[in-house]
Amino acid sequence: MYLDLDRYLRPERVGACLAALTRPRSAVIAGGTWLNADPSRHAHLAQVVDLQALALRGIEADEEAVKIGALTPLADLVGAVEPDFMAIGMAAAAERNLAIRNRSTVGGRLCRNAADGRLATAMLALNCQVEVCTPAGVREVPLGKHLADVAAGRLGGVVTRAILESTPGYSAYIDSTLTAVDAPVTDAALAVCVDGTARVATGGHAADASGALSLPETSAVVAGIGWSKDYAGWRAKVREAALAEIPSYTDALATGDYRRHLAATLITRLVGAWLEGGDE
Ligand SMILES: Cc1cc2nc3c(=O)[nH]c(=O)nc-3n(C[C@H](O)[C@H](O)[C@H](O)COP(=O)(O)OP(=O)(O)OC[C@H]3O[C@@H](n4cnc5c(N)ncnc54)[C@H](O)[C@@H]3O)c2cc1C
Repeated sequence: MYLDLDRYLRPERVGACLAALTRPRSAVIAGGTWLNADPSRHAHLAQVVDLQALALRGIEADEEAVKIGALTPLADLVGAVEPDFMAIGMAAAAERNLAIRNRSTVGGRLCRNAADGRLATAMLALNCQVEVCTPAGVREVPLGKHLADVAAGRLGGVVTRAILESTPGYSAYIDSTLTAVDAPVTDAALAVCVDGTARVATGGHAADASGALSLPETSAVVAGIGWSKDYAGWRAKVREAALAEIPSYTDALATGDYRRHLAATLITRLVGAWLEGGDE
């Protein structure tokens, strides 16, 4: 229950949102599937600024970038993003709870400060930039460097777009869940660019967004395998690199060791699928 709420706003412009957010005990709401779900997240709020009237729903693509509006629900990403950015559509489709898939937004998923949101993992592999509107102006920040800041609201303002600038030749996403509708125990994404660079990311390795992370050493190993075409022992090499980089995080779902090994297996599967023909 919003017991302390005395003001609800639904501005049509980002500037009006930013002005309203200067009031203490304010929060923005997008799909509401996280904020509304638990009183501890909203009982203290005096004002809610609803983002749903902003023109930020949809995917725009040109030769330079694909821009995904922060109000785009996960359902709109399923099968809608260009084949090069397939990992995003696969991550959205992995949300099998259709009510959540239809309602929850890209911005809400990035900003609720958790490592099991799927989308961040795919976006890290795709070297995503996030556009944030603050009272000081519009900033584009690399998600790889600022995911935790975006997720914890440390940049202030409102997340307006996710921007995918690079052109991967191949990308894919995979997760592992206890039941079909659970958040993932862990997940992984792989993107391989036409210039041969590769990027591997995985999620679920902390209680907050810091547990969704890029794996630079593993990425270098994967790129080296693709570039050299030396496939001898590739599974062991990828697995060893991933296990060396993935932190150990234990929670009620899994021990840290189990989760690390599961993530390494998912990464190996993604690399195997790519080597078997995904790059043709
Ligand atoms: C049954 C169920 C299953 C779920 N499963 C998962 C799951 O598997 N993985 C997962 O990650 N989550 C899951 N969730 C939580 C939630 O649905 C998602 O995290 C969802 O993506 C939140 O999006 P939203 O648009 O509804 O965000 P909201 O609830 O509207 O907002 C979430 C937070 O982000 C902030 N915010 C929203 N948009 C912006 C923006 N554009 N700029 C700045 N701040 C913003 C809000 O202030 C709030 O703090 C689940 C929830 C339920 C009820």
